[in-house]
Amino acid sequence: MTTKQERIEIRTDLFNRVKRAVIKVGTGVLTHDQKPAASVITHLARQISWLMDEGRQVILVSSGAIGLGVIKVGLRERPTDIPHKQAAAAAGQPSLMHAYEKAFGRYRKKVAQVLLTRDDLCNRRRHLNARNTLNVLLDWGVLPIVNENDTVVVNELKFGDNDNLAAMITHLMDAQMLVNLTDIDGFYDKDPHVHKDASLVPLISRIDRTVEQTACDIPGALGTGGMSSKVQTAKKVTSSGIPMVIASGLKPNILKSLFQGKDVGTLFLPGRQKMTCRKCWIAFTLKEKGAIRVDRGAARAICKQGRSLLPIGIIDVDGEFREGDMVGCLDLDGTAFAKGLVNYKASDIRKVMGLKTSQIRKRLGHKYYDEVIHRDNLVITLDETEDPLCQ
Ligand code: GLU
Repeated sequence: MTTKQERIEIRTDLFNRVKRAVIKVGTGVLTHDQKPAASVITHLARQISWLMDEGRQVILVSSGAIGLGVIKVGLRERPTDIPHKQAAAAAGQPSLMHAYEKAFGRYRKKVAQVLLTRDDLCNRRRHLNARNTLNVLLDWGVLPIVNENDTVVVNELKFGDNDNLAAMITHLMDAQMLVNLTDIDGFYDKDPHVHKDASLVPLISRIDRTVEQTACDIPGALGTGGMSSKVQTAKKVTSSGIPMVIASGLKPNILKSLFQGKDVGTLFLPGRQKMTCRKCWIAFTLKEKGAIRVDRGAARAICKQGRSLLPIGIIDVDGEFREGDMVGCLDLDGTAFAKGLVNYKASDIRKVMGLKTSQIRKRLGHKYYDEVIHRDNLVITLDETEDPLCQ
């Protein structure tokens, strides 16, 4: 347990280091009683402008297109099927940007709209293009406002929700903090809508199973992701060495309070491992296309010595994937411990598994690489504290 004073010190230190932050705002903050919450948007604009004037770079990830579209078109409730959601987003996105442009205009700040799909971020070239564009906007002092390009994505290509999109943008832009603004004060030890005695947890140093289980789904009236999705986002962000906060976007001056180190919302402490942007892309943006099961020796060599995965350590291959795809690495018990980009397709790996690298050419008729996954393309995903290989 930490004291309030200790938490203030931790927060002050972390927030002082933030030169670039991603701020995510949920639909529950931007709409109220089936109306756009104009005063909240203005208040957010004032606080974000204050951060920008302090010399910090901010990228805003904003939901609200579907919510505002529902209101604009006059639908009685948020649609559940994809074409209606997409149409609502198409109607609502200009309203959202109009509201931001007007609100930020008051503080003489310019905004830009950036609509992305998961496909864009999975493709390495488009991923880098998106980063270059965002960097230019930040250099110009223009606030990028990012949302999913809802009208063109189908379920399997979706980010899932904007919590996940915000994590990917945090990694893409190498930000030092993700602030997730929602319509409740933070992470509670029980569902605060049901239990009167639920209390806010101010600091989480490790996202273990209890935290994940407690993060019961409590979606906002017009939003998509609940607490569970926010905790999964925190897991991705903190495991790459970046802190995240969940706080209420409806609380006056919440951003100012956070950046002044005040003990508000829930702070998820960063893990010790700082991952490069490329490794984050492999681990958190790409979709897993299959899995490779390895023996104990290979799992150890990868986790403890940072080695590449060679055919000799492979005992099984799941799925049909191609060269360059991202796959999970599983140990003998089926525990996923790493992710990486494969140099060979699944059917070729099945042919060479268990063999020495010197036998690859003979078996396949060609050999492009010694490694099935090169260590530069491998990311360990197991938290040290839950790593059986450490014991
Ligand atoms: N892209 C959706 C919207 O703007 C939001 C998805 C989400 O809230 O997670 O409405």
